[in-house]
Amino acid sequence: MWSFRAWRRRRTLARYPIAAPLWQAVRDRLPLLDGITDAEDRWLREACVLFLAAKHLTTLPGVELDDEQRLLLAAQAQLPLLHLGDLDWYQGFHEIILYPDDFKSPQRHRDASGVEHVYDGEHSGEAWQQGPVILAWDGVLGGGGWEAYNLVIHELAHKLDMLNGDANGLPPLHHGMQVGEWSSAMQQAYDGLNRQLDANPDAETAIDPYAAENPAEFFAVTSEYFFSGPDLLQQAYPQVYQQLALFYRQDPLARLSQLQAEHPEYRQGQQ
Ligand SMILES: [Zn+2]
Repeated sequence: MWSFRAWRRRRTLARYPIAAPLWQAVRDRLPLLDGITDAEDRWLREACVLFLAAKHLTTLPGVELDDEQRLLLAAQAQLPLLHLGDLDWYQGFHEIILYPDDFKSPQRHRDASGVEHVYDGEHSGEAWQQGPVILAWDGVLGGGGWEAYNLVIHELAHKLDMLNGDANGLPPLHHGMQVGEWSSAMQQAYDGLNRQLDANPDAETAIDPYAAENPAEFFAVTSEYFFSGPDLLQQAYPQVYQQLALFYRQDPLARLSQLQAEHPEYRQGQQ
């Protein structure tokens, strides 16, 4: 059967080919892609073209993107989807807004007694339900390696979380995954982190204490670690790592371990 979607896909890929040297330059700037297979590389390259054709990048004054930078963003956005099939995981938003650096935005927070607070906060990224993703470009440039920080993956994890309603740390799990196992792994780790911070707000936590804000941030922050600091996450919260491996259907720790086995100095000075 003739498929409009397949036709449009082929047409888009034919219209916007990525030259080999350009793709190599992108790969060179993204060590967190090191160790992916050739087949994964091919998928990612096509997925970047389709992503950039589907989403509108709005740049604010101070941000000018060339093709390499657009691909730098797209490749990080697509990495989590590498084995999630051809579903439209980033549906429900069409625009990514790029600020030059951290931006102020009015925040609303409803406390336990139902009172709504509005305050200004410094942010490097935001993802709104049914709205755009907002990223600070210097925050995007701060990731890409194994530094256990990745703004693009963080904000897009919120978008995955929002696919089945409000961001609450529970994205739509695949067939065969158990909500109970997911919830207990996440809750235990989240509670542990909060207990640690309640006892000492300045505690040296194994992962960014921002993860203790709420379950949605816990999922977004641990997703960042999963892809860019998988050894740290696995060490701190092995069950969380395991659930994320089931959800993303990837094993970045295996990639990193293999790279380190082949090159013992790999990642030195990167985190
Ligand atoms: Zn967040």
